Amino acid sequence: MKTWEENVRKVTPYTPGEQPNRPQMIKLNTNENPYPPAPGVAEVLRHPDEDALRRYPDPAASVLVNALAENYHVKPEQVFVGVGSDDVLAMAFMTFFNSEKPILFPDVTYSFYDVWADLYRIPYHTCALDENWHMNPEDYKQPNGGVIFPNPNAPTGVEESQAIEEILQANPDVVVIVDEAYVDFGGTSALPLLKKYENLLVVQTFSKSRAMAGMRIGFCIGNEKLIHYLNDVKFSFNSYTMNLPSQVMGVEAVRDDAYFKATTAKIVATRERIKKELNELGFTFPDSKANFIFASHKEVPAEELFRALREADIYVRHWNKPRIANSLRITVGT
Ligand code: PMP
Repeated sequence: MKTWEENVRKVTPYTPGEQPNRPQMIKLNTNENPYPPAPGVAEVLRHPDEDALRRYPDPAASVLVNALAENYHVKPEQVFVGVGSDDVLAMAFMTFFNSEKPILFPDVTYSFYDVWADLYRIPYHTCALDENWHMNPEDYKQPNGGVIFPNPNAPTGVEESQAIEEILQANPDVVVIVDEAYVDFGGTSALPLLKKYENLLVVQTFSKSRAMAGMRIGFCIGNEKLIHYLNDVKFSFNSYTMNLPSQVMGVEAVRDDAYFKATTAKIVATRERIKKELNELGFTFPDSKANFIFASHKEVPAEELFRALREADIYVRHWNKPRIANSLRITVGT
């Protein structure tokens, strides 16, 4: 290794689901929404204000922040937006997980958490989910530098209920981040707990329930102090993160609550129908509250199914990792 290479920051990056683009494919591998975004989004695309692109966008993305504050009945000072929730999470890791003690998250969870931890040199410890893929709140009562978990969890789709408040009660001295990327498909948000816990940060995304993965919009809601600290880090990194079209189209998506409710309800109905049909085909899976199902077959190994499906141009997600190698994460389509 050359000398200069010794001091390079070396990381093993996150591997996103592949994005094939084949005419006949059935794409169920990245939990995208099968319906288009709200009609107002297309309206903005049809009438672009290209002259506005000469200028830098509003660095605070105020139009979108205000629309979100109104929608979720919080103050604009409690809202932070980013380029997808991955950006929000990356900023939150950097801002809030700055202790010598390890942060805690489940052993089976969103596989970006350990990547950010490694990137920022944050020590971490994973807590094993039980045999039904549930978190044990007792695991989160050990000394730590912060806690993060998705609810519902990914890739299992399993939702936690009273465990969340138990974890918050046990951890008043660190920031607890609940990643609610999949909460809009029948889950219960931790947002009401913000009134009781100033160290809670709730992260959500437009990529799934609002069908805008291509625009890259994520946000989080928390106590004003948390958001202030988060903005200080974000503005030390890159002022103009969110482009103008994303800000404007994001507002259209947030304002159309009727469309949001109708499309998420359709996805939930399809999910429940798929559960019955997968069951009849010999699959088992934990009960999912997300827009995907984490299924394994009683007889056919997941890897074999994965390959055969791929040959048929049907894309699902499979990880060759401990505990989950015999399961496929199948996104709910149409
Ligand atoms: N959190 C979880 C649990 C996810 O599965 C994803 C999707 N990969 C994200 C966050 C990030 O999604 P996005 O950056 O598109 O908002």
